[in-house]
Amino acid sequence: MKLAIIGGGAAGMSCAYLLNKKHDVTIFEKQPMLGGNIRTLNKNVNIDNEKLRKGLFIDNGVIEFDRGNFEYFHKLMEDLKVELQEVPLSAGFFYSNGKHIYTPSRIHDIQIGPFQKMKETIKLSKIFFDYNSFMLKTSLRKKKDYYNLPFSHLSKERVLFWWMRMILMYAYSIPYKDTNNIPIGLALSMLRSCLTFPKWNRIVGGTYTYIEKILESFQGKIRYNSDPQSISRKNGGVEINLKTGEKELFDKVIFASPPHEVLKSLNDPTEDEKKRFGAWKENKAQTLIHTDTEMFQKRKVNYFSADLIQKKEGDAGYNAFLNGLSGIKKNDIKYSLAFNLEDEIDPEKIIHIQKHSTPFYSSEAFKYRNEVIETNGENNTFHVGAYLGNGLHEGAICSALRVSKMLGGKVL
Ligand SMILES: Cc1cc2nc3c(=O)[nH]c(=O)nc-3n(C[C@H](O)[C@H](O)[C@H](O)COP(=O)(O)OP(=O)(O)OC[C@H]3O[C@@H](n4cnc5c(N)ncnc54)[C@H](O)[C@@H]3O)c2cc1C
Repeated sequence: MKLAIIGGGAAGMSCAYLLNKKHDVTIFEKQPMLGGNIRTLNKNVNIDNEKLRKGLFIDNGVIEFDRGNFEYFHKLMEDLKVELQEVPLSAGFFYSNGKHIYTPSRIHDIQIGPFQKMKETIKLSKIFFDYNSFMLKTSLRKKKDYYNLPFSHLSKERVLFWWMRMILMYAYSIPYKDTNNIPIGLALSMLRSCLTFPKWNRIVGGTYTYIEKILESFQGKIRYNSDPQSISRKNGGVEINLKTGEKELFDKVIFASPPHEVLKSLNDPTEDEKKRFGAWKENKAQTLIHTDTEMFQKRKVNYFSADLIQKKEGDAGYNAFLNGLSGIKKNDIKYSLAFNLEDEIDPEKIIHIQKHSTPFYSSEAFKYRNEVIETNGENNTFHVGAYLGNGLHEGAICSALRVSKMLGGKVL
């Protein structure tokens, strides 16, 4: 069969890998490069080597993968023979009034005396107890009740919710104020995974390395700078018209572009498709790679990892310290990835600014997500993407596997 994949991010490229041996695959990618939110400096994002020396591969997008909760992602990496490395990751939550809370792994790792450790543990234990009982209570409720409601439905203005919303901001690079819109179903599955004390892996050589591995065995076509002007389903197949005036016929189309892009290129959306994709919007996020450590000095801390920083009531950002996450020695230059902390970072110390486009998770958009999955194949049209799962890489790979299975491709 001739298959068109729209979008060369994690889901589109995994799909291409799984279907490539069985079918004739063409990838249409809007950008001049593959990867979507995977942006590895010195790999798919070229960088002036004076800013970042040759041989360093730093992720300015997708960075880490949960060993316990990302089963299919890990199966794919094994299949591709991609080298993974366990990385240290712990979180610190910094309030605008100067106070902080550390997660158990941070309390374990930081070099402070036993009395100080005990103080940190007591501080954490209250919130941790609250967290566990909140999770227990929500798990006892019938899913139907609350699955699609916005997180604000549960959210109260107390420390526990501030804490949880900070985690959601970090996980989805969504502005803190908008974390209240995240559907409870998605929020809870993310927050529950924190209770399993996740352990993290990185991809040696940067996340884009696995896309390079996929390309080694890919025999199909890739069309860069190529977002179809219109896609029509007709005569039992799919016609793709490009902005250049070219036209190509396929048997099936697989949308691997974000959900807010789907209706833009569909020439003949059905009423059901309009309903399923009409409420999806774009979340525009910007992350920076920088070498400024002033924000830690300001907060009198000398241990950095994943730090969630409240700027003022209702506004926050995060800073992920990258040396450990990128295989760079601790005593080297200190690299970080920051979100919504531009006002704290010296512009001279910024190496790269990356604009991301992700789905804006809202309860209106989420309402028809299961229907999208259940109707895959209707009208010779399929859908894959992280948004059809946990919003992260595991979701992207699982969605690709589902479609591969339906089309007789590789299954892991
Ligand atoms: C800053 C940041 C950090 C993240 N960190 C992690 C992490 O550490 N671990 C993790 O698991 N997840 C992380 N994520 C989540 C990440 O988005 C997903 O894991 C995954 O990369 C999403 O893949 P995708 O293929 O669904 O979508 P995308 O990556 O958005 O890919 C969609 C592709 O479609 C293309 N496209 C869009 N419109 C069109 C069109 N009309 N025609 C053709 N092509 C089109 C886009 O250019 C893009 O290449 C992070 C996200 C962000 C923003």
